[in-house]
Amino acid sequence: MRVVVIGAGLIGLASAYYLQRQGAQVTVLEREAGPGQGTSLANGALLHPSLVEPWNAPGVLGFLLRNLGRDDSPMLLRARALPSLVGWGLRFVRESNPARFARNTQRNLALARQSLAQMAILREDTGLRYQQYSRGSLSVYRDERSLASARAAAEGHGIPFVGLDRDGLVRAEPMLAEVAPYLVGGMHFGEDEGGDAHAFCNALADVLRKRGAAVEMGCAVTGFDTAGAHVHAVLASDRRFEADHVVLCAGVWSTALARRLQLRLPVRPAKGYSITIPLAAGQAPCIPVVDHQLHAAVVPLGADRLRVAGTAEFAGMDVSISPARVANLQALLRRVYPSLSAKTSAASISAWAGLRPMSVDGVPLIGGTHWENLFVNTGHGHLGWTLAAGSGQLVSDIVFGHASPVDAREYSPIRF
Ligand SMILES: Cc1cc2nc3c(=O)[nH]c(=O)nc-3n(C[C@H](O)[C@H](O)[C@H](O)COP(=O)(O)OP(=O)(O)OC[C@H]3O[C@@H](n4cnc5c(N)ncnc54)[C@H](O)[C@@H]3O)c2cc1C
Repeated sequence: MRVVVIGAGLIGLASAYYLQRQGAQVTVLEREAGPGQGTSLANGALLHPSLVEPWNAPGVLGFLLRNLGRDDSPMLLRARALPSLVGWGLRFVRESNPARFARNTQRNLALARQSLAQMAILREDTGLRYQQYSRGSLSVYRDERSLASARAAAEGHGIPFVGLDRDGLVRAEPMLAEVAPYLVGGMHFGEDEGGDAHAFCNALADVLRKRGAAVEMGCAVTGFDTAGAHVHAVLASDRRFEADHVVLCAGVWSTALARRLQLRLPVRPAKGYSITIPLAAGQAPCIPVVDHQLHAAVVPLGADRLRVAGTAEFAGMDVSISPARVANLQALLRRVYPSLSAKTSAASISAWAGLRPMSVDGVPLIGGTHWENLFVNTGHGHLGWTLAAGSGQLVSDIVFGHASPVDAREYSPIRF
């Protein structure tokens, strides 16, 4: 069976891995020069079942309107993006009602758990190294009310955690000592993992090639050859790739590619920023810290780099880097690790912006379409690293018609 996978980000490569394992002859088409150059390049580096709540939580509309145009807001709506969000935005708000939000959270949680279980098996099978660690993550809080509501939410969703007071936080991460007076407590989420998504993409692409897949770089998909309800071939960079099945995993760019097949995917870009800071020996924190009030994750990548990621901006397909948003992340680092921040020279920081493929209900779209042999795997929003392995396995099971460990109907692209 010949399967063409479009996109060599986390989701395309994970899909290719499972398709190949199940016996497909896989070709991955990627327009960039290397794997993981899109949104999978410099993300927050966390696989976090603890953060599976969709971003359209109850009250999201009021929050967005109150913060309209404010550069220091953790979630920012740019006026220029409004036209592209009209229909999608209404559905995004509708999905924020408490019952739908709770259901969507459970869908993500089920897939996240499956995904982390699969990551362990994938590591065992491939020997991949990507600065992976499994020490969990810490969530820290600066006021009692937010802490109490976060604990109640985690309990309600069934996400296990250990509650920590201020001293417990400092025992778990000694570098928090200097800000401890401002913290009221937090939670340790033992299921969470970390790792460098870009390193994972590079290493996984190598494994796929060694096992016989074609991973074609610099190969931009421009169209499809179709007849009736069947896609016969994918057209890319003046070449034609015959396919028995096609799996579309092009992140935020999936929406435009799908439109060429008269398929409307309710996925829109939510821009995010990260900064990566080189560390001297002994400077690395020992565990990722998520500061909810600051909406930032501060995550060590091995012993020599620190990643700070956060914020969301609805600004269309623009990936330009706004100095104000980068300054925001630097300010967030100052509030979590002031001494480390003071020792960091601005010139050593690499800033990056990427586009999260946000589905309208905050749950990815995985499965078949009205084309008999076209499948999609996209819309992972802020959870693409967390859900990569589980989503790859699920789409492969669907292509092969196998039973899947999660309920495939919950992620179907035609569920809306
Ligand atoms: C700031 C930030 C922090 C984040 N932090 C986390 C985190 O801590 N944990 C987590 O779980 N998730 C996180 N995410 C989300 C996660 O990074 C994304 O969900 C994930 O990278 C999406 O992967 P993807 O493979 O769908 O998309 P991409 O990585 O964008 O891959 C799609 C690929 O398709 C290619 N492509 C597009 N068009 C074509 C074409 N015409 N022909 C051929 N190829 C094409 C692109 O070049 C790209 O390589 C974060 C995102 C951001 C922006």
